[in-house]
Amino acid sequence: MDHPDPTYNASTGVPATIVRYTLQPIALIGILGYWMTDTGNPLAFFITIGSLQVVLGVLEHVMPARPGWVIRGWEQLRNILIVMVLTIAIGYVAEFYDTLLREPLALVRASLDLDIWPHHWPLLAQVFTVFFASEFIWYWFHRAEHRWHPVWRLSGHGTHHAFKRLGALNFGLNHPLEFFLLVLPAALIELTFGVGAAAAGAAILGTAQASIVHANLDLNPKGIGWLLTTNRYHIHHHSVVMAESNTNYGCSAIVWDRLFGTFSDAPTLEAGTGPTEPTLWQKFLMPIREPADTAIAPR
Ligand SMILES: [Zn+2]
Repeated sequence: MDHPDPTYNASTGVPATIVRYTLQPIALIGILGYWMTDTGNPLAFFITIGSLQVVLGVLEHVMPARPGWVIRGWEQLRNILIVMVLTIAIGYVAEFYDTLLREPLALVRASLDLDIWPHHWPLLAQVFTVFFASEFIWYWFHRAEHRWHPVWRLSGHGTHHAFKRLGALNFGLNHPLEFFLLVLPAALIELTFGVGAAAAGAAILGTAQASIVHANLDLNPKGIGWLLTTNRYHIHHHSVVMAESNTNYGCSAIVWDRLFGTFSDAPTLEAGTGPTEPTLWQKFLMPIREPADTAIAPR
């Protein structure tokens, strides 16, 4: 496939071709299959996402799509530590919403006759229903972040876009403020409809997808990319060109972009918020002070 980046490594050879066509479906099937062996396992999230991150991280070093994006040594270690701390923090935000919203949303469910969750469906069907419903809400949140300047700033979404080199770890490199938006869609679905066990499976599926779509690997977008986001689509959303970053808002499910006219299938030359990457401290301050060369923030 022609690519505007002359350094882009399109898959050649048997191992890279196998990775290209099988990694995403096999990872998702494997992860959901593991979770279903014991849906109450409180460690399932960390085991599945941790293992996936290790596999993606190793492959990104062995067969990176963009060799210039490979992060090594101290910087890689620092990113791993940041993501580990932030992943624990996001759990507290989820607990916060649970405490805050469980009772009021149960009242809403009772008063509006919303006791319609299909608990009798096969568990996997319920997982995908939560997944696509949460992604529907996230699609509009994310579109609002890119559409309105106050939402862009207050959510800290610029921080997530500020990285010039992407890899699987970027799923977790978000401003702490954005956790309150990232966690909310699933919490609203789960607590409004009284979902139950499927919510944990949907959280794992969504996070696995978020990991894969940031991966610096040459992955196939065809077929699977009708419903699910692939890294070709999501990396395009990370483009430094504003018109390109205003596409593909569905981080894990791409179907809503296809339905609402924001889907784009095109290669990406450069990622980031501008020509230079802010320092870690500058990224943290982005909600209150945006770097002067930011090119993709809404006006
Ligand atoms: Zn975005």
